[in-house]
Amino acid sequence: MTEKREHHELRTLSKRYARAHRIPQHRALDLIAGRLGFPSWTRLVTAGKNGWTCSGNEMLELEEFIILAPPSATFLRADPEIASRRAKILEKADVGVIGRHAYRIHDFLGDIIVAGDGWSLRVPENPSAMPIAESYSDTDTPVHDPAFLKAALQLAKGWADQVKAQTATDWPRRSTKPDQDGVVRHPLWGDEASVWFCMHCDAKITGHQVADNLWHCPGCGASPLDIYDHAFWCDDGGKSLSPVKPPTDDGASDTEVKIVDGRLKLDLTEEKIEFLIRLALIDEASNISEKQAALLAEIDVDFELGISIALEADLWPEDKDPVQAMEVAKLVGLEVVDLAIMWSDVPFAWPSLGEVAEDAVTYTQMMLDAYRQHGGVSPKKSED
Ligand SMILES: [Zn+2]
Repeated sequence: MTEKREHHELRTLSKRYARAHRIPQHRALDLIAGRLGFPSWTRLVTAGKNGWTCSGNEMLELEEFIILAPPSATFLRADPEIASRRAKILEKADVGVIGRHAYRIHDFLGDIIVAGDGWSLRVPENPSAMPIAESYSDTDTPVHDPAFLKAALQLAKGWADQVKAQTATDWPRRSTKPDQDGVVRHPLWGDEASVWFCMHCDAKITGHQVADNLWHCPGCGASPLDIYDHAFWCDDGGKSLSPVKPPTDDGASDTEVKIVDGRLKLDLTEEKIEFLIRLALIDEASNISEKQAALLAEIDVDFELGISIALEADLWPEDKDPVQAMEVAKLVGLEVVDLAIMWSDVPFAWPSLGEVAEDAVTYTQMMLDAYRQHGGVSPKKSED
């Protein structure tokens, strides 16, 4: 595998991991580098330049790790017996009625979900996370009825306790019971230590804390997959990291549930409006030059004053009003109050080539040819 292709594959894997675990991609890159024995992604890239390659086996193992890594600890490295036991729990997905509301309850990767028509209640696998009730409709949603919610919560917590008990029996005893020095064993990696680190929030966690919380970070709730016995992403291995701060108990009780409106809502931010305006400009651009102008346009969205658009004089015809952009502005309740032309540094000379080129490929060819005739093209280099 070439160095470039290899890095591309590793990047793709890290992106998938980062999305699944909601961590920044650079963290996921460092994690992957860590699993391949490097202290950071930068070191891996340097090693790659000096001839290191990822073996086929290592790549397969990584893929397995990333693809199989669900937010629950229990599926990872699960032996067939555990897997089939879990499948039976899933099969038992139960139906019933609370009051006049029918429900279905099941276990989804360790979280317990009770759901009915227009509502759901999730009790997360992470013991310190608050249950969340969602409503998907304006009317007839039972989640605002305290008696209903209490019953649903009791039901879900009963199931959660069963699953937790099962998890604890599947893990080594040392994972849930620290020894006299506070040393505990990671249920997945098997490492033993009395101090642990959360890759998600950089917290330092004691063996007692992490065992009590079923290997989820007591600070941010990250899963056991993010808990390590040394912070390989820190230069000092984690010595400088601060002890975990569990969320303060602000009177939260066993019956507390966060109720959220699960319906999709559009938050029309300045960035989103700017995006729509640029989309309109691109859509009404009639050639490659105008498309470049749309990409380079300076769009300023101000909820008080309205929208200003500045278009590059060399790329957008002065007498062409961006009609679609103005219509889009109206649809979002604003007005284009200022249309200006600007003269800035366009990326390439001879901007009018884009008026005759049929498409981006032809344009690029014409532009490169023109440079070659009049001065040449320097070797490729990075910006920094
Ligand atoms: Zn954490």
